[in-house]
Amino acid sequence: MMASNRYRFLLPGRRVDAPAPLRATLRELFGEMVDAVEVIEYSWFARVHLRAIATTRRRRIYLRGAAAPFFDDPVFVLHEYFHVLAQWEPRRLSVWKYLVELFRRGYWDNRFEIEAREFAEDHRHRYCALLARHRAATTSRHA
Ligand SMILES: [Zn+2]
Repeated sequence: MMASNRYRFLLPGRRVDAPAPLRATLRELFGEMVDAVEVIEYSWFARVHLRAIATTRRRRIYLRGAAAPFFDDPVFVLHEYFHVLAQWEPRRLSVWKYLVELFRRGYWDNRFEIEAREFAEDHRHRYCALLARHRAATTSRHA
């Protein structure tokens, strides 16, 4: 039985594959590990993190809401993939390290968030250019 979107929040989160052009773009920026990252939409895990619209762990991005608007937001995508692939994956980030930073400096000023924000801002133009190219390649291949 299909649940209407209105009650979607009552159901458990589900894994969503990032669109192919987006994955190809992210591979150019982060390497092959992009394919090991799972995106979970309507995640309970994200919802228990009070104000967060997304929460990351090793190889996981948990979204409070739908995946589609996430995939449409270049800065949001770059920010969360940076947490996963540049911080969690090399184990520079752990729950404990994050909590220590959060306690000392709060959300906005902790170094993990500053780094992720800077990376997203620094790479958004290149990301958008690459994504446009990959989308055009996908379209012409299927024309
Ligand atoms: Zn963040």
